[in-house]
Order: sequence, then structure tokens, then C-alpha cells
Amino acid sequence: MDSKVLTEVRDTTRIERVSAHSHIRGLGLSDELEPRETSQGMVGQKKARRGAGVMLQMAKTGRIAGRAVLIAGQPGTGKTAIAMGMAQSLGKDTPFTAMGASEIFSHDMSKTEALTQAFRKSIGVRIKEEAEILEGEVVEIEVERPATGSGQKIGKLTIKTTDMETVYDLGQKMIEQITKEKIIAGDVVSIDKASGRVSKLGRSFTRARDFDASSGSVRFVQCPEGELEKRKEVVHTVTLHEIDVINSRAQGYLALFSGDTGEITSEVRNQINKKVAEWREQGKADIIPGVLFIDEVHMLDIECFSFLNRALEDEMAPIMVMATNRGVTRIRGTDYKTAHGLPTDLLDRLIIIRTEPYTEDELRLILKTRCEEEDVNMEDMALNVLTKIANDSSLRYAIQLITPAALHAKRKKSKQVSVEDVRKCYGLFMDEKRSTEYLKEYEEHFLY
Ligand code: ATP
Repeated sequence: MDSKVLTEVRDTTRIERVSAHSHIRGLGLSDELEPRETSQGMVGQKKARRGAGVMLQMAKTGRIAGRAVLIAGQPGTGKTAIAMGMAQSLGKDTPFTAMGASEIFSHDMSKTEALTQAFRKSIGVRIKEEAEILEGEVVEIEVERPATGSGQKIGKLTIKTTDMETVYDLGQKMIEQITKEKIIAGDVVSIDKASGRVSKLGRSFTRARDFDASSGSVRFVQCPEGELEKRKEVVHTVTLHEIDVINSRAQGYLALFSGDTGEITSEVRNQINKKVAEWREQGKADIIPGVLFIDEVHMLDIECFSFLNRALEDEMAPIMVMATNRGVTRIRGTDYKTAHGLPTDLLDRLIIIRTEPYTEDELRLILKTRCEEEDVNMEDMALNVLTKIANDSSLRYAIQLITPAALHAKRKKSKQVSVEDVRKCYGLFMDEKRSTEYLKEYEEHFLY
């Protein structure tokens, strides 16, 4: 299977779906899960962010099985942004699927098939392969350090290097130094090539983020001859859905480009599940549960809800995050009214996180962050006007005015977006409120 192609395909869909949230790089929490005022692109909404962080912690320790998160709040209060932040803080290999509930109603496939595909798009399979190390590649070396005297191994030490001579030649000498310098598992060290001196730089977890896991790792394990295995582990991550599509005889991998995968049979899926279970047993693959985000979840109907209830029990279920801006409303497909339009048995499984409307200061900060993300230099006064627009109509509408306003400024060869540029675009593009007023005023001119 050509996993390079797969990664690219997934990235394209990802970019397209999340560009409105590209400034979000995590939940902006401290190690103690305390929300920072502004961090990782996140502004305000502290209680909800903290709640989301606690949920993630539970998910990481495997204590969320069979449950899901519901983010409830008014439009534009950052529900999607928080779901995105959750996926980001799980790491770059973690699949994130965002969909609107109404997307599942299509002529091409049944509702449950669409939901199954969404679930499987949100489960990553990290596949490990062995490959030769090439000259000049960045590799990670793990050295097992012997305990003093007993010869018992006490842990692994990770060293990052681009220097192949370090990898191949320092061998036994390095291990002697490690023992002498009292370097322990988790330390990051530097190696002086000439003398073979190994000195301690710090603990690896502070540096771990610098290391690109996709470049692979080499195990340098002490052995009697001090010999190094010149092979590395290469890691690819694909989603279960991608494996399904590639192995579906009816579709083939080209369907990944068009996104038009049609229905996939349960035989194919059962085979894939079996294969992946085998790989896991042989240590060739790990499962990475991702995040499945379903926006406007009140748009799902009763059949979909019973499907979700069952799917959540699956041992490979992703972290399911739903969002709604509805209060008490009718469950689609029934005459019953419930909180958020969700059946009570599903509500029972949910952990509900609330988002609150933003203050003007918070709106201003979000807009400023978006300007930075889009490389737009905006005058303070213009930012004030945009904040007022966000407050009076909607945050999303105000965000959407940034690019046209910047284009307007560029046309005038101005380096900064001014109040005039924002005003101009406000006049050109209507927000929902003004559009409704306009429709009411000129009602008789429209067809119904
Ligand atoms: P809806 O109910 O209409 O789906 P929503 O609650 O999901 O809305 P978002 O789409 O997340 O709202 O927010 C609108 C825009 O504002 C997005 O571009 C989002 O990234 C940004 N945004 C919202 N909240 C925050 C925040 N707390 N920090 C930074 N950016 C935010």
C-alpha cells in the first residue's frame, strides 16, 4: 500500500475542513489542566476548555469508553474550535473528522453507512515498518543503560543525531560514558565526536516535541559486541477508513481522491478489523483513537441515535464530541421533545460542556488572532469596528470580513487595513440580520 499517497489525501480534506480554525493549536491548558487566558490560539471560554481537557485526560487513561461529550452553546461560541483543540492536543497523528449532522442525509449511501465511515475516518492505525538508515538522516537512538554491578538493564536513553558516524562508530565507548556520567533513561545528551564524550543536556520530555517521530527511530541496545542495528522503524499513520477503501474491490484507492467511496461492505470491514487485530498482536500496528466531531447533532434522527449508542460501545470507538445550539426541541423522527433534541438514553451517556457568549474584549482578541493567522495587518481602530460588528451580528461574519478587507486595502496599495476597508466590505457583504431585514422589506419581489 502506498501510504505516502494516503497521507496527502487525508491532509487535503483536513485543510479544507478546518481552515476556519487553523489558528487553533490546542486547548491552551497548563500541565495541571488550568486554562491560560490566551494560548495555542484559544481565547476565553475557560470553563469549557478545562472541561474538554479533563475529558481528554479521561480518554487517554481509557476511562471514557461508551461515553461522549456534548458541547452546548449559542452559535459562534467556539464549539467547533474546542473540538478542534481537543484533536490538536492529542498530537498530529490523531485523526480529526468534523461533519455537520445533515451531511449524512444523502442519496449515495445510507445514514448508518455515512456514520460508520465517519467513525472509521476518526480511528488511526499507526503501522510500523523496518527500513535501512540512509546517510544524513535524523535518527533517534535508544540505548539501554546497564545498572551498576548487576548488569541488569534499567531503561532506555534517547539520543537524536544526524551524524551517521556517531551512530555507527561510538558504540561501546558511548555506553561506558553513559555509565560514568550517571545518565539515566529519559536524559537528552550531546556527543562530542572527537572524544566520544557524552554530556547531559536535560530531560527528554522537554525536548520530545522537537523530535519528528515520522523520521523513525533506531534501537541501540547494548550487546556484548556493542554492535548497532542499522535498521530503523518507519511509521505511517492511516485511518481505518482509508484501509477499507483501498481494499474495497468495488472502489479502489482512487476513490480516496474523489471522496466518492460509496458503500463499503461489512465483509471488507470485518476482514480489515481481523487484519488490524493481527498486526496489533504482532506489534506491527497501534490503534490511535481520534476525535469525531458532529456539529448540529440535533439534526440526526432516532435511527442515527440508536446507531451511535451502539457504536460508542465498540472497543475501537473514537472520542465522540457533538455540538448543538438547541435547547428543548423535538427528536427528529419522533414526536418527543427533549433537551437538545437527543433521546434520553443517549443524553444519559453524555458529559455536557457549556460554552458562554464572549465579552467584547474576548471577541477583539479572537479577531486579532485571526488577523495574525491570515497575515493581515489591521489598524487598531479598524479592529475596534470589526469587534463591534462581531458583537452586533456574529463572530463568524466578522472573521469572514478580514480577508476581503485586506484585499481592499491591498488594491489601494495600503499595508494596513483601515476602518474604511472594513466599512466597505460591511457594505458589500450582508450578515444574516441585514439579509433577513432586506428580505422582509422586499418580500413581494421574491418567488416563494
Ligand atoms: P455554530 O454553533 O454556528 O456551529 P460554533 O460554536 O461551532 O458555531 P466556531 O465555529 O467554533 O463556533 O467559532 C466561530 C469562529 O471563531 C471560528 O473561526 C473559531 O475558530 C473562532 N473561535 C471561536 N471561539 C474561539 C476561541 N475561544 N478562541 C479562538 N478562536 C475562537
